[in-house]
Amino acid sequence: MTKKNTKKLDQQYIAHTYSRYPVEIIDGKGAELVGSDGRRYIDLGAGIGVNIFGQKDKKWVKAVTEQLDCFQHTSNLYYSAPDARLAELICKKTGLKRVFFCNSGAEANECAIKAARAYAAQRRGRDCYTIVTLKDSFHGRTLTTLAATGQDMFHKDFTPLTPGFEYAEPDNLKDVERICREKKVAGILIECVQGEGGVRALSKDFVQGVAKLCKEKDIVFMTDEVQCGNGRTGRLYAYENYGVLPDVVTTAKGLGGGLPIGATFLGERVKDVFTPGMNGSTFGGNPVVCAGAISILNRLNDKLLSEVARKGEYVRSRLEGQPGIEHVTGLGLMIGVKTRKNENEVVAEMMKHGVLALTAHGGMVRLLPPLTITNRQLKKAMDVLLKAAA
Ligand SMILES: *Cc1c(COP(=O)(O)O)cnc(C)c1O
Repeated sequence: MTKKNTKKLDQQYIAHTYSRYPVEIIDGKGAELVGSDGRRYIDLGAGIGVNIFGQKDKKWVKAVTEQLDCFQHTSNLYYSAPDARLAELICKKTGLKRVFFCNSGAEANECAIKAARAYAAQRRGRDCYTIVTLKDSFHGRTLTTLAATGQDMFHKDFTPLTPGFEYAEPDNLKDVERICREKKVAGILIECVQGEGGVRALSKDFVQGVAKLCKEKDIVFMTDEVQCGNGRTGRLYAYENYGVLPDVVTTAKGLGGGLPIGATFLGERVKDVFTPGMNGSTFGGNPVVCAGAISILNRLNDKLLSEVARKGEYVRSRLEGQPGIEHVTGLGLMIGVKTRKNENEVVAEMMKHGVLALTAHGGMVRLLPPLTITNRQLKKAMDVLLKAAA
């Protein structure tokens, strides 16, 4: 099918919730994508942090297709090995105790919010339900995760949202403490590295302060690792950079390597908060998706993670102080670049020269390349970015 046809069909039949770039992807391998016009692109977006091993990763394809050849879905009425094995792997690698599987980041956060409210209701009474999140956060598109998202622009036209959410200033522990005095707080949910909201790594003092406050006040401490998790920051989960262990961790995007998955990890304090019937998902823990995720998670070892950190350092060293670059933010291969020029102009210019990048709020060019991007690809992409930004 020609590009013109796809664009026409899309515009006529797909709901107009996306403004797309003028590119149709028809193929890819690793960190390279091929457009319908035959052009090759270096991919610094990875499907928004999803394809952490790039396109057509051999081991992942094998794991997925082997499971497809076996059985593709059973429902959660029966036992099956892939989700049980994936949950074991997650718990062994993180120290959290149980996992609820679903299909997206928003759903994983819904489950976290439910866990915090249930924990508080069971121990401190049903009037203890407030969830504290941060300004500039992003937690999803359902009405409850929109309520959790501390950016007004996403709320417009959808009110009333789920009540019981309060927003604190990021990196301002006093503001979090104030809310905890004024309201009965069940849980605090933060992204250690804010993604959509501007690629901002929170300070160590703040994250550790929140963890301590939660412990003292029996508040459920939750980190949203949908974007910053699964090796992206050079650690398996971003909270590890901060020397804390959350009560609840949510993730999605990269975990599935390209198939939809969401997961909520429950720590010691909350591991038994759910009983049968309190949450569920038809597709959650799908065996094909989980088989792929096992293959991904098994390869996120120390060697690969140190490569991620090294590549992140390389990007920073190439960009910092160069003409047109104001500053570089983020951790590992989750990188924000504040350019003097408008970020959309820079991304459009990069596209013309064969490199696909993302943007984030606050005027940032956002880079989330596959973790396995080659040094050569990264070098070439930085040359293009610098030229576009200068
Ligand atoms: C993308 C994202 C979400 C939402 O994930 P979906 O899979 O789109 O529902 C939630 N939190 C963070 C931090 C994200 O980056």
